[in-house]
Amino acid sequence: MRVAVVGSGPAGFYATDDLLAAGAQVDLLERLPTPWGLVRLGVAPDHPELKSASRVFEKTAAKEGFRFFGNVEVGRDVTHAELTRLYDAVVYTVGAQTDRRLGIPGEDLPGSWAATEFVAWYNGHPDHQHLEFDLSDPRAAVVGNGNVAIDVARILARTEAELAPTDITERSSAAIVASTIGEIVMLGRRGPAQAAFTPPELKELGELGGADVIVDPAELELDPASAAALEADRARARRNVDILRDFAARTPAGKRKRLVLRFLVSPVRIVGEEKVEAVEIVRNRLVLGDDGRIRAVPTDTFETIPCGLVLRSVGYQGVALPGLPFDESRGVIPNDRGRVAGLPRVYCAGWIKRGPSGVIGTNKKDAAETVEALIADAEAGALACEGGELGALLRERGVEFVDYAGWEAIDAHERALGEAAGRPRVKLTSRDELLAQARALESRQ
Ligand SMILES: Cc1cc2nc3c(=O)[nH]c(=O)nc-3n(C[C@H](O)[C@H](O)[C@H](O)COP(=O)(O)OP(=O)(O)OC[C@H]3O[C@@H](n4cnc5c(N)ncnc54)[C@H](O)[C@@H]3O)c2cc1C
Repeated sequence: MRVAVVGSGPAGFYATDDLLAAGAQVDLLERLPTPWGLVRLGVAPDHPELKSASRVFEKTAAKEGFRFFGNVEVGRDVTHAELTRLYDAVVYTVGAQTDRRLGIPGEDLPGSWAATEFVAWYNGHPDHQHLEFDLSDPRAAVVGNGNVAIDVARILARTEAELAPTDITERSSAAIVASTIGEIVMLGRRGPAQAAFTPPELKELGELGGADVIVDPAELELDPASAAALEADRARARRNVDILRDFAARTPAGKRKRLVLRFLVSPVRIVGEEKVEAVEIVRNRLVLGDDGRIRAVPTDTFETIPCGLVLRSVGYQGVALPGLPFDESRGVIPNDRGRVAGLPRVYCAGWIKRGPSGVIGTNKKDAAETVEALIADAEAGALACEGGELGALLRERGVEFVDYAGWEAIDAHERALGEAAGRPRVKLTSRDELLAQARALESRQ
């Protein structure tokens, strides 16, 4: 059985591992010259222990029957129809490639960015290195109350010494260190008991070398519904509220930066003539709906927060692929336990299957469910292909692809640069540099 897996993030690698274990041959296609998806290009550089999830993927790649085709984008270099002819089955693990929008006036003013763009920039994503972030205003606002919002706020607050031993790009690190931002305000729509961040990530904000964390105790007062939910509840929300109460009780130490956590506020307008000058927010109150969910409802109290940078972190969103069905409202490929609706022999896993939620490990179980469906179909005799060879097709088309040895050459080069600089790696950040490094290997062979 020959299977194409499209997208080399966690879902792609976990699916590949299960498929190899079932005796399949797997070609893993990736639009970038480098594997690992958001583990390389999303997970924060100051969290090296999470980046090391890639070690598991390296073990998968070393197994018999695995091939990597980096720098190959499905929909551009090869079509979905072609893949279904070449392979018995195709598994899409393309993640969620864009951001959700706030849908408020001023959202597109210069200085208002999707957190996606900022994350991709500081992590060295080749498609985002041309971006110029103006970090010269004394204040930045981060919209959102999840772990990605925390990541971007924390990275903005980091000191030179804290960034130095990470694999953040040198350019973004230099810009953050030189920035004159003194205050970073995080804006949460609902209350502290509903925040989506996880306790370890929240707690870390209280341990930053160069920033005091500030919480107004008044914004931590719980409405009766939240208090009741907390009583009944989930350890996570309770721990978050405890950590926030600890922050609120602290006396600021006068560090260079302040990281202010606000709750029960929503941006209604980003204000500015030619660029962001302020964000207008409305105060919310919480209402318990008939469905038992606590919702934020705007009041008539408004406030304007002057700032020159807005990072919007209200969620990621999948993108439709040509030839595949797409659920616009959920931003996912419609599927039944990984079987793509209406398309035999086509499957999906990871964020494009269930939406952008969960941690790296969540994708393992998710991919296992998909592969289980695929194997069941194979056993039922439902898989078949015409045959042919992807490498030959790509060569005929003049598409330069990076195989796994090519990626290993890039990896070794980045690590060697890192070793000299006392960092885990120094990333190559342009496609040209990455391809040149992979090509250099071919000429040595
Ligand atoms: C900013 C950020 C920080 C995070 N931090 C953490 C963390 O600290 N800990 C944690 O556990 N989880 C974290 N996560 C969550 C974790 O990264 C995700 O759960 C996981 O990466 C989702 O896996 P995936 O394989 O579905 O998608 P992705 O990791 O996005 O992988 C999709 C891959 O598909 C490729 N692709 C897309 N389209 C095509 C195409 N047409 N052809 C070929 N290839 C294509 C992409 O280039 C990408 O490499 C974070 C997420 C984000 C966004």
